[in-house]
Amino acid sequence: MDKAERKSDIMNMKIAVISGDGIGPEIVAEAKKVLDAVCDKYGHSIEYKDVLMGGASIDKYGVPLTEETINVCRESDAVLMGSIGGNTQTSPWYKLPPELRPEAGLLGIRKALALFANLRPAYLYPELKEACPLKESVADKGFDMMIMRELTGGLYFGDRYTKEIDGVTTAVDTLIYNENEIRRIAVKGFDIARKRHGKVTLVDKANVLDSSRLWRKVVTEVAADYPDVEFVTMLVDNAAMQLVKDPAQFDVMLTENMFGDILSDEASMITGSIGMLPSASLNETKFGLYEPSGGSAPDIAGKGIANPIATILSAAMMLRYTFDLDEEADAIENAVAKVLKEGYRTIDIAKAGESSLKTAEMGSLIADRI
Ligand code: NAD
Repeated sequence: MDKAERKSDIMNMKIAVISGDGIGPEIVAEAKKVLDAVCDKYGHSIEYKDVLMGGASIDKYGVPLTEETINVCRESDAVLMGSIGGNTQTSPWYKLPPELRPEAGLLGIRKALALFANLRPAYLYPELKEACPLKESVADKGFDMMIMRELTGGLYFGDRYTKEIDGVTTAVDTLIYNENEIRRIAVKGFDIARKRHGKVTLVDKANVLDSSRLWRKVVTEVAADYPDVEFVTMLVDNAAMQLVKDPAQFDVMLTENMFGDILSDEASMITGSIGMLPSASLNETKFGLYEPSGGSAPDIAGKGIANPIATILSAAMMLRYTFDLDEEADAIENAVAKVLKEGYRTIDIAKAGESSLKTAEMGSLIADRI
């Protein structure tokens, strides 16, 4: 579709940009390049506002997150982020108390923006099948799933303490969820399944845990409002096995905080390439923070060799989930697939002996194919 046909949908997007530390600024620059190519093609415009967080914010303000950064993010439609943090062994940031270290900025912004739903897709590109550690017969079928993890409740946020009980040191963690916390993420999960392949798998431990039984009850109620979306439940121990046995069966995998923490890492491992994996964290509105799943890769920072694809795909998620620009998001995802099909690789996904591109070259090739 050309500009003229899409006039009614033309958008001016306000995006806060947290380039961050390490490879962050290098990979974010490429995502902006690709977003600008999308704007050129479809007639949209973007107002970027750069803000600091993590190590860069510590260096300037002495704290990893400022009110100004939070306010700029709140006033924007979405946040595009690189990654934050440094070498945890050598960087002076890690001599600071935990609440002043770079990662505290990340926890702080998730809280300040009420980002309760974390989305991590795991997709196996046919061209990168060899990086998949699964059996060839499993990898040959491919997979395309979205792990949807609750991010602000459950075991990581419940009361915890350690005390002597009858002379024995005892530790207690509390797994707590209320029905509202479950319903709001379930609704997001089913909405997203509608934009994808129309299936939700709820992963829980309902044979043991009361919290899981509440998840099952509430998610089953929500499922009734989405008769067009297939709904199944699976126990978490089985889900961990099925992820390596038959990952093609999953579309949206909906789950609570700790199960999602573990399963999303398992899902990223089976793709075999961390530099390819985007992520999103959403609140109750269309607002979201979009960032690559990997970290700031201090070992390769400044060399211009980081893979920008995870960040570019995070920008595609932003267009899809915050701005409902599915066609534009498809254009980015198709451009990435095309570049891979044409055989272009950054160093992390190149096979031994294969030549590789610099970060900026990969970004330009993708932008050119929009
Ligand atoms: P990492 O993901 O930064 O690096 C792990 C390995 O993957 C490294 O060898 C790195 O070179 C490689 N890698 C990561 N992204 C890549 C890319 N785009 N292209 C090519 N190779 C890539 O994990 P780490 O070394 O454990 O952590 C480094 C720092 O990042 C730490 O300070 C950590 O706290 C921080 N971190 C931040 C986030 C975030 O900002 N959300 C997430 C994870 C880790």
